[in-house]
Amino acid sequence: MNALVERTAAELLAIEDRWGAHNYHPLPVVVSRAEGCWVYDLEGRRYLDCLSAYSAVNQGHAHPKIVAALIEQAKKVTLTSRAFHNDQLPLFCKAVAELTGLDVVLPMNTGAEAVETAIKAARRWGHDRRQIPDGTAEIIVCAGNFHGRTTTIISASSDASYKRGFGPLTPGFVIVPYGDLDALSAAITPRTCAFLVEPIQCEAGIVMPPDGYLAAAASLCRTHNVLVMADEIQTGLGRTGRWFACEHERVIPDVYILGKALSGGVYPVSVVAGRRDVMEVFTPGSHGSTYGGNPLGCAVALAALRVIADEKLADRSATLGTLLLDLLQPLVRGSEGTARQGAPSVRAVRGRGLLIGIELDRPARPVCEQLMERGILCKETHDFVIRLAPPLVIDEADVRWLAAEILSVLG
Ligand SMILES: *Cc1c(COP(=O)(O)O)cnc(C)c1O
Repeated sequence: MNALVERTAAELLAIEDRWGAHNYHPLPVVVSRAEGCWVYDLEGRRYLDCLSAYSAVNQGHAHPKIVAALIEQAKKVTLTSRAFHNDQLPLFCKAVAELTGLDVVLPMNTGAEAVETAIKAARRWGHDRRQIPDGTAEIIVCAGNFHGRTTTIISASSDASYKRGFGPLTPGFVIVPYGDLDALSAAITPRTCAFLVEPIQCEAGIVMPPDGYLAAAASLCRTHNVLVMADEIQTGLGRTGRWFACEHERVIPDVYILGKALSGGVYPVSVVAGRRDVMEVFTPGSHGSTYGGNPLGCAVALAALRVIADEKLADRSATLGTLLLDLLQPLVRGSEGTARQGAPSVRAVRGRGLLIGIELDRPARPVCEQLMERGILCKETHDFVIRLAPPLVIDEADVRWLAAEILSVLG
């Protein structure tokens, strides 16, 4: 084995096929370099990245300020474990608390770990504060949810493909239809400790609940002393045109779960931010993570948050997202009261900020492959939806080019 031998794309695909587990179905492009909105394959062809690693790269690939923070901190100290303090964690916790309007912050690494942490917090809070007997707490989740891949989290999923053969699963989840207030209301019992919800369901196909749903659900939960836990791992940090998608309905949840763009795609960092009475359930020894809150991740995340603020990426997402949605309107049948024909295969175009879904009446994969040929990387989500979520640093000319290419492929 000679690491210096340069492999062709075909060779690398074959090696991965042979030696890697097949838990994804990637497009056949081998990325070897990326900058801003653009990724480059081994032959130097460039593609507009319209997935942004599932919105982890909102700040653009290899953002110089985030990479500089990584390098600078890596030379100082990368990992202390929480057995000792480090000089980055306090500043990071304070920054996230101020940003979210919540009291206490607990850093983890991946999104799934943060969701797990929130589930544990909610259950213990239910036990300690609401006297729900241990082992009986219920968390309400929505059909179509995506909260990650651990055994407990998939237990909350309504998707059979996430669960088949992975049992025994974790009890204590009650699934209600997304966007249905009456169903939520009917599902709340004295054992309900929390409602775990995505403000927009991304993996389900950019599914948006009816206007007012989130605010009404939050107020319903407040009435019953049920925690609202917003999973904004994908919708947060500027993606929908605000810092958090909950802001569109002026909701401050009791718990925010964040990840992905929290570190700008440079290093895994996630957090649970919550009300003091919720986060206080964690006492020394009750929860932890070796890498959680490490100084390298904290320094990277502080830089990543600063970039979103300094470059006004949420505003940019709002403006360019509105533009992109407008430019894609010709795909929609009879929009704006016109007799417009629309594109034959397009069912709907929807989104908020630079988080846009194009729903087709047929599998989206072949369209993604056609777009790839034209230098655009998108990924189908749940078979029929093309997700458009470029880095928020994209410029207007590239948005216009993207729209024109999509119209030409689908029109
Ligand atoms: C990606 C994602 C997760 C899981 O994050 P990982 O870092 O992949 O574990 C959880 N919830 C939502 C909404 C996500 O988009």
